[in-house]
Amino acid sequence: MAARIIDGKIIAADLRARVADEVARVKREHGLTPGLAVVLVGHDPASEVYVRTKAKQTEAAGMASFEHKLPAETSLSDLLSVIARLNADPAVHGILVQLPLPKGLDSQKVIDAIDPAKDVDGLNPVNAGRLATGLPALTPCTPLGCIILAKTVHASLEGMNAVIIGRSNLVGRPLVQLLLNENATVTISHSRTRDLPKVCKQADLLLAAVGKPEMVKADWIKPGATVIDVGINRIASTDGKGKLVGDVDYQGALSVAGAITPVPGGVGQMTVACLLVNTLRAACAIKGIAAPGV
Ligand code: NDP
Repeated sequence: MAARIIDGKIIAADLRARVADEVARVKREHGLTPGLAVVLVGHDPASEVYVRTKAKQTEAAGMASFEHKLPAETSLSDLLSVIARLNADPAVHGILVQLPLPKGLDSQKVIDAIDPAKDVDGLNPVNAGRLATGLPALTPCTPLGCIILAKTVHASLEGMNAVIIGRSNLVGRPLVQLLLNENATVTISHSRTRDLPKVCKQADLLLAAVGKPEMVKADWIKPGATVIDVGINRIASTDGKGKLVGDVDYQGALSVAGAITPVPGGVGQMTVACLLVNTLRAACAIKGIAAPGV
C-alpha cells in the first residue's frame, strides 16, 4: 500500500489560522499586537524569498512585521547595534536574523546578542540550554514543525523508536530534546555513524536532516514507518530550472513507509508557521499573560 502523504501545506495553513485567531484574541483582550522583526544582511536570493514570505505571513496573521535590510558590508558592531535597538523596542517581541550571514560576520556573536525572550529562532544558548534541561524555551521552528507533523499521524509518540539523521543546532539537536519530551526513544545519527541504513531501519519514526539529495533509500526504511524529510536540496532537472528534492528517495519510500512528508510541501511549510507560533508565545510571555492556545 502506498504511504499516506503528510500534507504540510494544509497542516501549516491550519496552524496559521489558529495563530491568527489567538492574535485577534490577545489584541482584543490585552491590547497586545505581537511584532516580529526580521534582519536581513546582504542580498542572498534564497534569503530574500524567505524574508518576504515571513513578512507576508506575519501580517496575514495580524501581527506587526518589521523588516531591517542591511548592506552585505555591514560591520559586526553595526549589526549588534541594530539587535540592541530591537531588544529594547517594546513593539518587537520576536527577532530573527536571517542566516547564513555574509562571510566575515560571526553568526554566533549575533545569535548570542539577541534577548533570549525575543529569540524566536530558538538558537540562543540560553534557549538551547533551557530546552536541553527540560525547561520551557523558545524552540527552533523546523524541529517544532516536525513534531507537529509526526503527531498528525501518531496521536502520541510515546515509546516510539525515533531516529534522527543530522546533529545541527538548527534541526537535529533540538529534535532530540523535543522527541524526549514526547517520551520517544531517540537515536541521533550523523556522518560518523556506522551502518546508517541499519540504524535507520530500526526507526518507527525517521527524521532526515542531512542536506544530501535522496540519500535515504527505500530499503533503509522499516515497513510502515513514518518518515519526516527535512532536507531541501536543489538538483538539476530536464527543463534546466532545477527542482527541489528532500534527503529521502521519495518515490522509492512511498511503497515502504506508512506515512511520509513530500518535498516541497512538507516540513518547509511548517517552519514559518512555527515562527508565528513562537512570536505569539514570546509576546504573551513578555507581556506576562497566559501562554496562547497554540
Ligand atoms: P547541516 O549541514 O548543519 O547538518 C547536516 C547534518 O547531516 C550534520 O550533522 C552532518 O553530520 C550530517 N550528515 C552529513 N552527511 C551525512 C551522511 N552522509 N550521513 C549521515 N549524516 C550526514 O544542515 P542543517 O541541519 O542546517 O540542514 C539539513 C537539511 O535540512 C538541509 O537540506 C537544509 O536545507 C534543510 N533545512 C530545511 C528547513 C526547512 O524549513 N524545511 C530548515 C532548516 C534546514 P556531521 O555533524 O557529522 O557533519
